[in-house]
Amino acid sequence: MTEAPSNSVNALSAPFPWQGAQWAQLGRAFAASQLAHAYLLCGREGLGKSLFADSFARYVLCMKPIDQSAVGGLVDVAIACGTCSNCLKCGTGNHPDILTIEPEEGSKNIKIDQIRWLSEFVIRSSHSGGAKVVIIQGAHLLNANAANALLKTLEEPNAYTHVFLVSDHPGRLVATIRSRCQKLAFQVPDADVAVSWLQAIIGEGNVNSILEASDMRPLIALQLAEGDSLQARAQFLQSICDLKTGKKSIQQVLSLVAKNGESEVLQHFSAFLSKLTKYSLTGIIDNEDDSALQSMYTLLVPSKKKLIAQAVASSLACFYTELETARRQIASNTNPNPQLIMESILWQWSKLNLH
Ligand SMILES: [Zn+2]
Repeated sequence: MTEAPSNSVNALSAPFPWQGAQWAQLGRAFAASQLAHAYLLCGREGLGKSLFADSFARYVLCMKPIDQSAVGGLVDVAIACGTCSNCLKCGTGNHPDILTIEPEEGSKNIKIDQIRWLSEFVIRSSHSGGAKVVIIQGAHLLNANAANALLKTLEEPNAYTHVFLVSDHPGRLVATIRSRCQKLAFQVPDADVAVSWLQAIIGEGNVNSILEASDMRPLIALQLAEGDSLQARAQFLQSICDLKTGKKSIQQVLSLVAKNGESEVLQHFSAFLSKLTKYSLTGIIDNEDDSALQSMYTLLVPSKKKLIAQAVASSLACFYTELETARRQIASNTNPNPQLIMESILWQWSKLNLH
């Protein structure tokens, strides 16, 4: 078999530059044979938690890990070599000691049958003679029966099997599962880290605007850079501004939403609102905001009188809570009606008193 070039494989198996601390924490535990039975990798979407779990699983199974000194400025981390027989099997996605579970195609849930495979995987012996790793992507999507079945497995840990639950919404996992996992939290990176990572991939361009639109989540920023989402975002924000000033109707905004999807526009709306709230309180517009956004802020919140500004900020904060509730409802697996939720949000926005 031809060996894959080590650089390309290593690039897949290393953590992102903003994940050095989490990698070092797990790496030290693994080196000391103290890796916990179960970890809950949590944090917002777009921070690379899934790829982190995948890369760490490869590292756990690798037979010749190599030192990596360039991860988040940390000097004592190692990553998978990318060339040993275990790494090559991982590279094809076929390592028998790694099991990845996620909702099956067309389903919004992880079902009990999938957790039964997991239980069988946990008790059988390792093919390579070392550890085994289970990765549960979107762990908050476990349905009630599947969660109960998983709980049983977590209650009877197997010393050589490590379970990584990955979730953007850990609060939706039942508390009994959460309490059996060690929590590993991922945060949005510092701006300079995110900027240099994105620049290395897409070149100079409008990196700052893209990161701002993604709310500083690098993998979301990369999706925006690769699609025409940035233009869609500008159009949507302009339309909610027009709705507020009476130039557009709720129906007109809804037809724009239908083109782009509720989740995506609500994400833009949410990021825009936090900036608008900050502006209403401080009068400060972030450097990276483009001029179209700046004129929207001043148009929507023209008053600089302090008492009024505080009242506006608290109205915006209340509305922000509603918006986040709507986002959760749309992302939930309870068959929400996104159009109705969106219509209600736009109606509330149109009635919001900002003066
Ligand atoms: Zn290896």
